Amino acid sequence: MRLSCSLVLGLVPALASCGAAGPRPEPVANSPDSVEESAVLVPAPAWAADVQTLVGRASEGARTYELVEGLTDAAGPRLAGSAGDPLAVAWGTAAMQRLGFANVRAEPVTVRAWVRGEERVEVLAPVPHRLAAAALGGSIGTPPGGLDGELVRVTSLEALRALSPELARGRIVFVDQRMARAQDGHGYGETVPVRGQSASIAAGLGAIAVIIRSVGTDATRFAHTGAMRYADGAPQIPAAAVSNADADVLGRWLERGETVRLHLELGAHDGGEAQSANVIGEIPGTDRAEEIVLLGAHLDSWDLGRGAVDDGAGCAIVMEAGRWIREASTRPRRTVRVVLFANEENGLAGARAYAAAHHEEPHALGIEADFGDGRAWALRTPDLADRPDPAAISARWDPLARLLAPMGVVWQPDEPHGGADLGPMHAPPPEGAAMPVVDVVQDGTRYFDLHHTANDVLTEVDRASLDHAMRAVLAVAYAASLDVE
Ligand SMILES: [Zn+2]
Repeated sequence: MRLSCSLVLGLVPALASCGAAGPRPEPVANSPDSVEESAVLVPAPAWAADVQTLVGRASEGARTYELVEGLTDAAGPRLAGSAGDPLAVAWGTAAMQRLGFANVRAEPVTVRAWVRGEERVEVLAPVPHRLAAAALGGSIGTPPGGLDGELVRVTSLEALRALSPELARGRIVFVDQRMARAQDGHGYGETVPVRGQSASIAAGLGAIAVIIRSVGTDATRFAHTGAMRYADGAPQIPAAAVSNADADVLGRWLERGETVRLHLELGAHDGGEAQSANVIGEIPGTDRAEEIVLLGAHLDSWDLGRGAVDDGAGCAIVMEAGRWIREASTRPRRTVRVVLFANEENGLAGARAYAAAHHEEPHALGIEADFGDGRAWALRTPDLADRPDPAAISARWDPLARLLAPMGVVWQPDEPHGGADLGPMHAPPPEGAAMPVVDVVQDGTRYFDLHHTANDVLTEVDRASLDHAMRAVLAVAYAASLDVE
């Protein structure tokens, strides 16, 4: 039997940060005997039976998948400020009312729209080839008629920073860094700075445009878009991602010393200010109703696909978890508030608007679902490092970990992060409200095959793993609504 982190935490509080400092632990399911051993350590609290009963009921008849279907068919692509954005707000509001949420409302959020326009990226030499490419969100367009240039390739941001201006000047820089596949998705964090920063660094060297290998783990001809940002005061050049399969072709030519010339035509432009909204609904608490358990996901999506895994899946997970809590025979003591945030992908205006409007309300806990349809495999609870009594924290979270263990969810006492939409509430004062967060970590092995591509569609969503993730979120949210110290 492998010793899981939950056992280490229960037995030796001083070692509780296992996994945080050293290499990431292998994902292991808690075995039944490990559950029994930790059961000796902490008696089950009164709420545990209620949570177990509700999660058991939700294993039959969950409608999580149908909610993804409803959103993606009603609104489709829904980038902030686009035609799909108000359709998504209307769908979310109506769906929450239909599911029986209380206090359903759409709280206005002002967003900055970005418009892709028409785009065409093709190889002129060594042989003609149309690339599967997509402008990065926030990029400027090319001049009318496009631009032509010779490619110069680097394989990392460090190599780009070290590139001689003589090689970059007047050329199109190709940043060819590959994202690694991983269950916890850590390859994304390693690679996404390429997407965000390459344009301004290349522009500073005199490049006329930048293309990047898609930040994604597939080997297809779907390009992955996503946000980029120009550094303040830096010159601005157009930026696009090419599909992994096309990046392979370009890379082979360049490694063999061929001269590669591209034609780049991007119609991207700023779309001005637009109105969007955070869609909110609640399951009111009883004696501690003023305390909020916040369940968040984002309603917007990129424009290329239909936003099924990112983040239709997350919206469905938090809405369906809320619906089951409404069905529970023991009512939540704290109020469970579901928020479908506006504009996560291209500005975070929804997250900031929520924090500005609600930071003074007591938030007991936040949980965010923004990692697709993968099964839940890990639980991360607030860090022990800054708590005075590790044993008390162990007692607090151990019952929840034991409820999730039979679902194959490992208690991994790494620092939970909450996610982008909870960031402004989770941040310490004075900027944030220091809202505690718990992470229900989903399996992201396949997520970055689809993320931000035209292939992010309902057909790719797996009903069973989506429901599994929903039940894990349900367990944590319902426990947090009942577990009042
Ligand atoms: Zn997302």
